[in-house]
Amino acid sequence: MAEGFASNSPIVAAYRERTRRSAELAAEAAQLLPSGIAHDSRYLEPYGIYVESARGALKRDVDGNEYIDYFGGHGALLLGHGHPEVLAATHAALDQGTQFAANHPREIAWAEAIRRLVPAAERVRFVGSGTEATLLALRLARAFTGRRRIARFKASFHGWHDHMTSGYTSHFDGSPTPGVLPSIAEQVVLLPPGDLAAAEAALAGDPEIAAVIVEPTGGSFGLVPLEPSFLHALRALTERHGVLLIFDEVISGFRVAPGGAQGAFGIRPDLSTFAKIVAGGLPGGAVGGRRDILDGLDFAAARESGREKIDHPGTFNANPVSAAAGIATLGIIETTDACARANESAERLRRGLNELFEREGVSWAAYGTFSAFHLFTNPDGLEIRPGAFDPGALGYEALKKRRPGLVHKLRLALLLNGLDIGGWPGGMTSIAHDAATLERSLDGFRAALALLRREGEV
Ligand code: PLP
Repeated sequence: MAEGFASNSPIVAAYRERTRRSAELAAEAAQLLPSGIAHDSRYLEPYGIYVESARGALKRDVDGNEYIDYFGGHGALLLGHGHPEVLAATHAALDQGTQFAANHPREIAWAEAIRRLVPAAERVRFVGSGTEATLLALRLARAFTGRRRIARFKASFHGWHDHMTSGYTSHFDGSPTPGVLPSIAEQVVLLPPGDLAAAEAALAGDPEIAAVIVEPTGGSFGLVPLEPSFLHALRALTERHGVLLIFDEVISGFRVAPGGAQGAFGIRPDLSTFAKIVAGGLPGGAVGGRRDILDGLDFAAARESGREKIDHPGTFNANPVSAAAGIATLGIIETTDACARANESAERLRRGLNELFEREGVSWAAYGTFSAFHLFTNPDGLEIRPGAFDPGALGYEALKKRRPGLVHKLRLALLLNGLDIGGWPGGMTSIAHDAATLERSLDGFRAALALLRREGEV
């Protein structure tokens, strides 16, 4: 195993025993798919589970095991799996056709729903994914300002296109990751997260910066948190320098609050990117923002301004089935307390986990904001009290650091106890994570810690 944890581990053996059909499928997949997977964050040693179905907070694998799901569709499922209203809307749309290659009425209702919740989205352009959303936002910003460079924060995630790869998990010096042109990486300015003086110096010293893009909760949905006061200062700073501010709300949008992080913090960015929840858990995304900037995509406005129009085709832009799921989901978020409920569940889980760590004498911590929980597994053995852990006191390197192999083993131990979390490690809650589900989750964590303790991992 690449990260080298003991192959004679009872946790690994028990996992193999419980997931025999997944193991067979993983062996087949390895002949076809690099690492047998379709998304880097689904990589798990010795192999990941193969899921057959999911409903509410639960998913079921091909061996018949059930898991409480904290991966949450990579953040897309604030309403849980298979919400009946979203399913009904999706089924009805499927029956009408999946691809019209034409305008359709739902795209207007979808854009209206976005604008009602996010007033800064004066105009909306639909795209196929979150990666496409940030790609388009950068292009819009360059075309509008006539400047070349983009500033972003180390450890933030904005998708996988060429401008966004360095400085997320590696290449923090801004050098290009494999396959990326050095000339593109050179146009990206990587800033230390939360450091206003550094941002100020970068903007003052570089008149070619078109935009600053930021995950408003901090990188990876708050794994490396940012203070709202920093965002307010960043808004003022970008305005002073005529630099556009892009909020990447691909995860936070319609999750932290109906109006996203910008609604929660009272900040109006120039451009916002959305995906995941905006498309109701189906593929899709959107860029919303100032009309004068989005006018770069508008045939008539471009003609009138004498500027060349920005190209933007895309086969699955505003796909009608994704639109139906998105409209249904945004409708529920607008008219219920869904965001607040998911936030409250995560708060209870974080608290319960920290109480568990303290009781068990494990010097880890659960932290995060809104509907996120992140697990700090303390690879350097810092003196911490789980309930009083302050991630803001540590830099992004410390928060992202892990002991090799531990996270895989932790995830296996949790899977053995009916819990599926993300590999950062952490997870997200949905409205389906009710009190009973949280109680079961804490029991599962307790049992997983006991397994890890037996192997000397905690
Ligand atoms: N931006 C943020 C903040 C994200 O969390 C993600 C995905 O997790 C993306 C962009 C990329 O979105 P997608 O996976 O739809 O390409």
